[in-house]
Amino acid sequence: MPRRLRKKGLLLVISAPSGCGKTTISKKLLSIFPNLTCSRSVTTRPPRDNEMDGKDYFFVSRKEFFKMRKKGELLEWASNFGNFYGTPRRFVKKTVNDGKDILLAIDVKGAKNIRKLIPESVHVFLMPPSIADLKKRLRGRGTDKLKDVKKRLAIAKREMAQAKLYDYVVMNDSIKNAVAELREIVSDEKNKLKRQAV
Ligand code: ADP
Ligand code: 5GP
Repeated sequence: MPRRLRKKGLLLVISAPSGCGKTTISKKLLSIFPNLTCSRSVTTRPPRDNEMDGKDYFFVSRKEFFKMRKKGELLEWASNFGNFYGTPRRFVKKTVNDGKDILLAIDVKGAKNIRKLIPESVHVFLMPPSIADLKKRLRGRGTDKLKDVKKRLAIAKREMAQAKLYDYVVMNDSIKNAVAELREIVSDEKNKLKRQAV
């Protein structure tokens, strides 16, 4: 089929302050929508105890990261908490061009760049019920030292102020409610894409 007649997939961006529940909610969405796949970022952050290379992230050295960036292999990138994070370009492009849907769980800076590059992308901000709840979640996850939790909370406040730039804001007070809301958003946006394609 000529490329221009092929149906493109949905590019869904989910941003949220670290510890709000992006990973948890994204996993649930992937189990609901079989056509939805997740972009795996590259990062220079060391893996947490429960994380696996190639599954949660591609863990790379700074040298490897800078090489990828120089070669234009990253669609977008950002630095967070002293580490670099980036979205591999080729996988996103291929997935969308194959008519499959893709989810990018990335920070506010990355989301802004994606919006510029791919204006038809759909952006959702996942909001914690409060900073106190966010702190509890970060502490409960047990992956960050108290000083890192404090850093993440300070950045969270700045990120939450950017929620108005998103197409949708979903409150993650309960996992069940947030997933139900996102399920509706994805279904609606898929239907819009289908209508545009005919
Ligand atoms: P992120 O990917 O945004 O950094 P995670 O998905 O790792 O966040 O979630 C951080 C912690 O918060 C995890 O322990 C997760 O189980 C918990 N969590 C996520 N959503 C909720 C919720 N709605 N209520 C209570 N705890 C939650
Ligand atoms: P964490 O270290 O908690 O896994 O992630 C820290 C922050 O980096 C989170 O806000 C997360 O969404 C963001 N992040 C993860 N991957 C990427 C990416 O590829 N690009 C950008 N811009 N941010 C990312």
